[in-house]
Amino acid sequence: MIIMKTDATQEQIEQVIKEIKRYGLRADIIKGEFRSVIGLIGDEKKVDFDHFTTLPGVKEAMMVETPYKLISREYTKFFREAGEQKIIKVGKIAIGGNEPVFIAGPCAIESKAQLLKIAERVKKAGGHILRGGIFKPRSSVHSFQGLGATDWKRAEEALKWLYEAGKRFEMPVVTEVRGESHVDLVAEYVDILQIGARNMYDQDLLTKVAKKKKPVLFKRHFGAGIEEFLSFAEYIAAESNKNIVLCERGIVPVGKGKDYTRYILDLGSVPAIQKETYLPIIVDPSHATGRSDLIFNMSCAAIAAGASGLMIEVHYNPKEALVDGGQMITPDELKDVIDTCQRIHKLITPRRNKK
Ligand code: PEP
Ligand code: MN
Repeated sequence: MIIMKTDATQEQIEQVIKEIKRYGLRADIIKGEFRSVIGLIGDEKKVDFDHFTTLPGVKEAMMVETPYKLISREYTKFFREAGEQKIIKVGKIAIGGNEPVFIAGPCAIESKAQLLKIAERVKKAGGHILRGGIFKPRSSVHSFQGLGATDWKRAEEALKWLYEAGKRFEMPVVTEVRGESHVDLVAEYVDILQIGARNMYDQDLLTKVAKKKKPVLFKRHFGAGIEEFLSFAEYIAAESNKNIVLCERGIVPVGKGKDYTRYILDLGSVPAIQKETYLPIIVDPSHATGRSDLIFNMSCAAIAAGASGLMIEVHYNPKEALVDGGQMITPDELKDVIDTCQRIHKLITPRRNKK
C-alpha cells in the first residue's frame, strides 16, 4: 500500500501507478478527504517498498498481507475515519445506512401477473427492493430452472417485467446472474446484480459482473469460511467496484441437521464480518432455513446480530410457487417481520454505532 502525502500532485500519483505497473501489478486508487492511498493488486512479495518511499509525493509504502485488503477496515483507516461504514446507494435506497433494508419477492418469476401482484404487496408491506429469479441455480436438471432457461427471448421478457414492476412500485430490482453469458443482458434491466452462493468462487463471473459498475449482491457459498468469502468479494473490489453488499445465507448443515433446516444460518459471521470490512452485510433467512415458519425468528435474530438488511422470499400463495414454496412467507407475514425488525434495529442502533 502506498500512502501519498497530503500535498501530492496528480503527476506524482501517476508516477507511482507507473511504477506499480512496472512490477506487473495493478493499482487501486482511493482519493480520501485528505490524502490519496494506492492499493496494490497482485503479488506484493516481488515489490521493493523501500524504492517507493523514495518517490516524490510518497509518505509511506508498506506491504499489506490480508487477502481482502481493498475491502478491509484496516485499509480504510489511512483515508477515512476508522470504523466508517460504506453506504451503497441504489436509487433512493441506502444499504448500510441508518435504516435496515428489506429485499423481498418471489424465489422465481413465473409470470408477469405473479410478479406484479407480489411486487405491489411487497411495497405495501414496507419492502425496499424487489427480487425475482430468472436464471435459477437448481440442484436437479429436472426441476424448474427459471424462465431464463427457456430461451433468450423469454429471459429478456421476464427482465422487462422485473424492470417494469420496479418502476411501477418504485423499488430498485435485483436478480441473479448465473453465468458469464447472462451478465450483459441482465445488467441492462436491473439495479443490482446478484451472485448466488454456488457461484461465489467463479472469479471470471465476479470480474465480469464487477465491470458493469453496478452494485453487486454477493452471497456466501455454503462451504466457504469467512476469509474465503471476503477474499472472493475482493475480486469485485479489484475491478474498482466497491459497491458490494455481502449476504450470509447459511452454511452446510451437519449430521441430521438437514432434516430440520436447509442450511445453518451462521449469524456469528455477521458481526465478525462487520468488524473486518466496511461493506454492509445482509442476511437471507429464506434459503438458510428453508422453512417459512422460522423466518420471523431468524429475521429478528439477524437484525439483532447487526445485519444491514434482509432478503426474504415472498409469495401471496406459497403453496402454488414452482420453487421454494416451503420457505416463502406471505406479504402480511413480511409486514410483521419488517415492523418488528425495524423496532429491533432502533433498539440496537446505539450499540451498532460503537462497533
Ligand atoms: C436465491 O437467492 O435465489 C438463491 C438461489 O440463493 P442462494 O444462491 O443463496 O442459494
Ligand atoms: Mn429460492
